[in-house]
Amino acid sequence: MAFSIKGIKVPHRKNTAGTEVKRMVIENTVTLPMVMHIGAPAVPVIKAGDEVSIGTLVAKAGDGISSPIYSSVSGNVVGISDVVISNGRKVPAIKIDSDGKNTVDENIAAPVITDKATLINAIKDSGVVGLGGAGFPTYVKFNTDKAIDYLIVNCAECEPYITSDTYTMLERADEMAYAIDVILKYIDVKKVIIGIEKNKRTAIAKMKELASKNSKISVKVLPSVYPTGGEKVLVYRTTGRVIKEGKLPADVGCIVCNCTTLATLGNYFKTGMPLVEKCVTVDGSAIQNPQNVIVPIGIAIKDVFEFTGGFKSEVGKVIYGGPMMGISVPSMDEPVLKQTNALLALNEKDSKQGEETACIQCGTCVRNCPFGINVIELARSYEKGEYDKLEKYGLGICMECGCCAYNCPANRPLVQLHKLAKISLREWKEKEGNA
Ligand code: SF4
Ligand code: SF4
Repeated sequence: MAFSIKGIKVPHRKNTAGTEVKRMVIENTVTLPMVMHIGAPAVPVIKAGDEVSIGTLVAKAGDGISSPIYSSVSGNVVGISDVVISNGRKVPAIKIDSDGKNTVDENIAAPVITDKATLINAIKDSGVVGLGGAGFPTYVKFNTDKAIDYLIVNCAECEPYITSDTYTMLERADEMAYAIDVILKYIDVKKVIIGIEKNKRTAIAKMKELASKNSKISVKVLPSVYPTGGEKVLVYRTTGRVIKEGKLPADVGCIVCNCTTLATLGNYFKTGMPLVEKCVTVDGSAIQNPQNVIVPIGIAIKDVFEFTGGFKSEVGKVIYGGPMMGISVPSMDEPVLKQTNALLALNEKDSKQGEETACIQCGTCVRNCPFGINVIELARSYEKGEYDKLEKYGLGICMECGCCAYNCPANRPLVQLHKLAKISLREWKEKEGNA
């Protein structure tokens, strides 16, 4: 497979960049699913009737890779019941009625960090997961024995519409700098590279200002193409290092951390306030007033839309995240999750996908793939049930970025096909005893 650096041009539609950010008034019920991260579900530590404040621990991290969850409002616990999250999985969720008082938990205090072990514990206790959308518990990335040359701060924000990371860069640079200082004190990192797309001029200036205060930090301005923010692509574009299939950034001496993730850690290191709120971009062709809003985690999506002024046309589709990698939301009752960075509402016209026709073997999908995956052969093997060939054709390295499907003249749902292929491959391996 050839590693490409060209990417694809997508319309930016950054309508909300640099606009005023409003904080949502909190007088609603929040729903906190025990799965808002990759790994084991969190385990509730409260019961119905308990009083909680902002920042109260309501669920501890489960065994293995997991993340704790904190109340995003003050009020009373209604109870714990199952909810169906957007991937169709049923998970327990804690419901809390807000009392509208926004009382902060009196036990909130900055963590005591004295070495790498206490730093890792603090990152875990913060409840922070990959806030760029990935949801991978952040402490796991830093808990490595591998030699780390580069901490790469992901400021690419390459998906159309989304500008919540731009808000972080413009308004939370001090928190980012604080987190970097603490991390550099206890983890031996040679350099910090802030990777940012060139279409964000004001944010670049802000990041250069941040970098000017520490000789270990530099800013790398990257081409404004999609998917520059993909972890493997970003590592390549900032360091020239290639992460092979099945390997992690740490295997090539890198840790990648999204800028909002970093700023949230900075705030936690400084104040002890864990992850309880998110800046979310609300945009899309059906949205009346595109804007960034700071909302409590767990608030219903419909409440966020109402707060921003609702819709200007019939909604055909709602998406968690951007149009390229986002997930379709089945119900507006679903909550904002830890990793939600955008809520897009598209009108009927923009929600319709063109009719699928037969593949014309044009090769556009292969040329567009950042990893040069042979998408044609991959699709063919999956459809013929030749699961033993899926890895050979690069399924394992596919990051579901959607570049292959973007300009497919046959409107083939290639990303969905790759997702299904991954499930089929896993099942086939289990059956064959090759897992
Ligand atoms: S872009 Fe679409 S039509 Fe062209 S080869 Fe790929 S799947 Fe076939
Ligand atoms: S979704 Fe997978 S196959 Fe398609 S372009 Fe992205 S990495 Fe390549």
